[in-house]
Amino acid sequence: MSGECPVCHQKEESTSHCLIYCSEAQEVWKKTPISCLLLLQRTMTLREWWTQMKENIAQQHHGDFELNILAITCWSVWKSRNLRVFKQTNSSPNVVVESVLKLCNELQCHPQRSSSPNS
Ligand SMILES: [Zn+2]
Repeated sequence: MSGECPVCHQKEESTSHCLIYCSEAQEVWKKTPISCLLLLQRTMTLREWWTQMKENIAQQHHGDFELNILAITCWSVWKSRNLRVFKQTNSSPNVVVESVLKLCNELQCHPQRSSSPNS
């Protein structure tokens, strides 16, 4: 990708700008349950940021739910960017976050292993 960001029209568009650092993406990230774990101090490549975020989640003893939020938020930000670019449809950060949470809760409701109660 090259050229001006089609969402904020302020920065050169890159994958990391689009998914993490774009003002619109930040609005979404700030509303997620993992906002306190976000790494936004310096500009990283998407790969660096992803690796650091996963470490951060592990270090703070978070688990699958937070990892799901991380992955699904990336995907949703990307989807909303594409809708804007190709369909001229603007979805507000609230709508994007709502869809993220809905999907994560659905995943949470179907744990891979059902734990049987002891005694
Ligand atoms: Zn932007």
